[in-house]
Amino acid sequence: MGYSILSIAYLLASVTFIVGLKMLSNPAAARKGNWVAALGMGIAIFATIFLYKEDGKPLSNYGWIFGGLLIGTVVGTLAAKKVKMTAMPQMVSLFNGMGGACAALISVIEFEHVMQFDANLAKLLIILPGLIIGSVSFSGSMIAWGKLDGRIKDFAFRGQHIFNLVLLFAILAASVYLYMNLGNDSMLLFMMILLLSLSYGVFFVMPIGGADMPVVISLLNSFTGVAAACGGFLYDNKAMLTGGILVGAAGTLLTILMCKAMNRSLTNVLIGSFGGNSVVGGGQQVQGGVSKEISLSDAAVVMSYANKVMIVPGYGLAVAQAQHACHDLEKLLTEKGVEVKYAIHPVAGRMPGHMNVLLAEADVSYERLIEMEQANEEFPSTDVVLILGANDVVNPAAKSDPASPIYGMPVLDVELAKTIIVNKRSMKPGYAGIENELFYRPKTSMLFGDAKKVLQDLITEIKTL
Ligand code: NDP
Repeated sequence: MGYSILSIAYLLASVTFIVGLKMLSNPAAARKGNWVAALGMGIAIFATIFLYKEDGKPLSNYGWIFGGLLIGTVVGTLAAKKVKMTAMPQMVSLFNGMGGACAALISVIEFEHVMQFDANLAKLLIILPGLIIGSVSFSGSMIAWGKLDGRIKDFAFRGQHIFNLVLLFAILAASVYLYMNLGNDSMLLFMMILLLSLSYGVFFVMPIGGADMPVVISLLNSFTGVAAACGGFLYDNKAMLTGGILVGAAGTLLTILMCKAMNRSLTNVLIGSFGGNSVVGGGQQVQGGVSKEISLSDAAVVMSYANKVMIVPGYGLAVAQAQHACHDLEKLLTEKGVEVKYAIHPVAGRMPGHMNVLLAEADVSYERLIEMEQANEEFPSTDVVLILGANDVVNPAAKSDPASPIYGMPVLDVELAKTIIVNKRSMKPGYAGIENELFYRPKTSMLFGDAKKVLQDLITEIKTL
């Protein structure tokens, strides 16, 4: 009886994971989707604790289980409450690494059982991938976290890609040998595979440019999913299996979508040709171009008397934590009868959905956020485009300059609007490290300064009009 209730609980949990994931694809339902999936995970955890039986006996080590649950809950809650919006990728990376470590630890424990009790080779076929993928995901995510947090610098040496391939080959060869020759002395080799896999995770992520890390994290996330699914196979646990497969599939799809939105292949991201601290060659250089500035009061007048203003948020908005000031400006302009919308580029910022999450935090209505395709249709009827800390996502070179590293990346056609105001702190390039010829066009005016300060000053100016 206990078992059938347990199976129903797992089925319920699996359904909540799928429904929750589906809800995450719509900003208005995303928060609820998270809760739905968390509820399912809660059901799966507590059903296992209270209903699972090993050889007809229920679990007895409640002290350890609830001790672990308590520590995990406190640390997870505090970390999630404290994290800044700009530090979100680091947190995702850290949590993902923990998932990988769990999957690898399951393999370690289960390998001990195989050695002690049954020498089950079928089990070994799942234990080994779980160990390798989980360990790579753990050490890779830790390096990614360190890089995103500015604690670890990019590091590469000549022939690193060959070295990585040799390392991978050694891991696979050792695993095959272990499988064919399982015996009493196999523990040492197993631990060696663990160590080699951890090293592979480090060497795999070390050379990748810091700004490419979100793509790598997404890829590592899919690794963790696969490693967790191995655990589900091992324990014949349907909830763990479904959860793992969903994470694996979603992570893979996200990786592909991010690469597509940046018009780069995954190999290009992993071997690295632009991004991070690397210097970029090629592309149109706007040497000797002259940009013009606009004063705060002029910008305030232009926007107040416009019919339609389109705000284009970018990475700089997140850095400046200017989302609340941005929402205040939007409300003020709306009160004055101006139609205000936000044009959201799929890779604006440094992680997928970065701008949606940032603006949702400031209570910006989802209806005002429009996606790139629709925004591009609306630019010709827009009076003023206000670009806030965005650069690559509005660079026309992506459409016109085949030599540009971002050529082919879909961008926002802001130049179709009547007036363009660009807020950033300097003429420095963005993530791709290339100049933006938009800043030198006749319709464009620069409004220099930190996004938050500029927005606050703009609000003050508009109020005096
Ligand atoms: P960019 O990185 O191209 O540009 C951001 C601009 O913000 C910079 O030029 C910077 O100029 C400005 N800025 C920085 N701080 C401030 C501040 N405090 N106030 C005002 N401006 C500031 O950002 P975009 O959002 O346009 O493009 C995102 C890029 O990131 C794309 O190339 C994309 O491919 C890449 N990427 C995105 C991922 C995603 O999933 N979203 C993942 C990986 C990469 P200045 O220094 O002069 O102020």
